[in-house]
Amino acid sequence: MDGSASGKNVVIVGSSFAGLSAALEVRKRLDPVHTVTVLDPRPDFTFIPSLIWVPFGLRDAKDVTFPLAPLYERKGIRFVNEAAASFDLEGRKVITTSGQEIPYDRMMLGTGPRLAFERIPGLGPGDGYTTSVCNLEHALSAREEWDRFLEDPGPVVVGTAQGGSCFGASYEFLFNVAHRVRKAGLADEVPIKFVSAEPFLGHFGLGGVGNSGEMVEKFFDKLNIEGITNNVIERVEPDTMYLEGGRELPFKFSMIVPPFSGVDAIKETEGLANPMGFVPVDDEYRHPDIPEVFAAGVDIAIAPPGETPVPAGVPKTGHMSEKMAEAAAQNIAADIQGGDRHKLALADLAAVCVLDAGNSGVIFKAEHVLGDGGTTHVMAGPQAHWAKLAFERYFISSRKRGITAF
Ligand SMILES: Cc1cc2nc3c(=O)[nH]c(=O)nc-3n(C[C@H](O)[C@H](O)[C@H](O)COP(=O)(O)OP(=O)(O)OC[C@H]3O[C@@H](n4cnc5c(N)ncnc54)[C@H](O)[C@@H]3O)c2cc1C
Repeated sequence: MDGSASGKNVVIVGSSFAGLSAALEVRKRLDPVHTVTVLDPRPDFTFIPSLIWVPFGLRDAKDVTFPLAPLYERKGIRFVNEAAASFDLEGRKVITTSGQEIPYDRMMLGTGPRLAFERIPGLGPGDGYTTSVCNLEHALSAREEWDRFLEDPGPVVVGTAQGGSCFGASYEFLFNVAHRVRKAGLADEVPIKFVSAEPFLGHFGLGGVGNSGEMVEKFFDKLNIEGITNNVIERVEPDTMYLEGGRELPFKFSMIVPPFSGVDAIKETEGLANPMGFVPVDDEYRHPDIPEVFAAGVDIAIAPPGETPVPAGVPKTGHMSEKMAEAAAQNIAADIQGGDRHKLALADLAAVCVLDAGNSGVIFKAEHVLGDGGTTHVMAGPQAHWAKLAFERYFISSRKRGITAF
């Protein structure tokens, strides 16, 4: 405990799954004398899991976002709608893009990943030739590509690049593409390929979850999708993807989850992160060398549970991100005004994941995502699709009102 009765400053950097949960939780726990400030250049929260539906016109921006400022105002949290440009760790200050200096006594980083498209020539929207559903702008531009594709259909390539970690998202998008292609009556003229850094289908960067390998294989067989694992994408040119080993995949539409790294402001601050820009944390989600700094969500460093021939990162789901943030917030509050600490080893993180397939899907539940996996349940069927729809409604309406409990 810091001991002083004077107000302390808690700063949360990033306001998505990790940052929003941490801000609400720490505000709930701290006396009003202490201030909580959140920074994010995005004015709105985006429910990223629904972005897989945006390219098909099934969701618009307004369906999957809500504004952050009114929520934070109601909760007594200061919201700075700017990015952290750099960190002065010695002076305990965050410097924003406009040059504001925001002092902190405790800071939690929840900045998510940097989407490192530039590591593979031709990858990504903007300067490249593939689409992405990793953020709202990308998903909206993928919709334009999808509409063009429907006018001039041909082969499709979906997947996750080497160094990526969000495998579930690319599987979900793949199955949704297959569903939309069938609905459009194009199944015979649209061959679909899936490229992945995973050593086997359904590995997910975790060595598999229960019988996920078998389950995913069944989906691929049924939908006539070719899976290419241990894959390295060398470069992408208009309409063709070049794989290491010489294979060329022609495409008319492609969505590839890119390699992930930490965001620049973190990566470039000496002593804050590993060489990839991910923040090391202990069981309290505290930086092992900088006690006043915490981190939660996709921006933390997690070693893969086993080596893979091609680098495949560990997925950090929304649920995991919220749980880490909740623990970090409790420990920040305990530092400032005492109370119980919350230790949550990475190996004890649980995950519930619904993998939508358009009109069906798979629900995965793992007691321990890392380590031995613990008890796992895998259930396939149309109920998975309905579960995802219901969860989307529950999540957006509860978070909009500042309710974070799962
Ligand atoms: C297409 C897709 C589908 C997915 N589906 C699921 C699913 O079904 N279930 C599930 O559990 N998970 C799913 N995930 C994963 C889930 O979205 C992530 O686990 C979650 O978004 C991680 O939250 P986060 O807060 O760590 O990071 P992010 O959600 O990446 O948010 C980071 C925030 O930090 C902000 N930020 C970045 N840099 C700065 C800076 N310098 N200063 C201030 N703010 C900054 C960003 O603007 C952003 O708001 C999916 C992911 C994708 C891409």
